[in-house]
Amino acid sequence: MPSAKYGHVVRRHCARPGCNAPATATFTFDTRDLTVWLDTPADGGARAGELCERHVRVLTPPQGWHLEDRRGALARAAKQLEATLDAHTPMLARAFQNAGAV
Ligand SMILES: [Zn+2]
Repeated sequence: MPSAKYGHVVRRHCARPGCNAPATATFTFDTRDLTVWLDTPADGGARAGELCERHVRVLTPPQGWHLEDRRGALARAAKQLEATLDAHTPMLARAFQNAGAV
């Protein structure tokens, strides 16, 4: 049985009985924080199980728990950084020009 290699394509299936759809989310939970997290499936990542998109959409955490979908958080962070750089670059360029650095 070969061990997982880097670059290995993660292909898992939904954990719901009778569902063979490919998993699009991994869920983990913390019983102290009463939080369920959804993440992009990754090799070696801690997980309680995996769900397909359809079952993610119908997933309802127990009463008093909250659900945090962290999928796309990286993409959002990248977008935000891009916007920040866009907003600051002209200012930075002017600052360098004023300092005679450009
Ligand atoms: Zn499913």
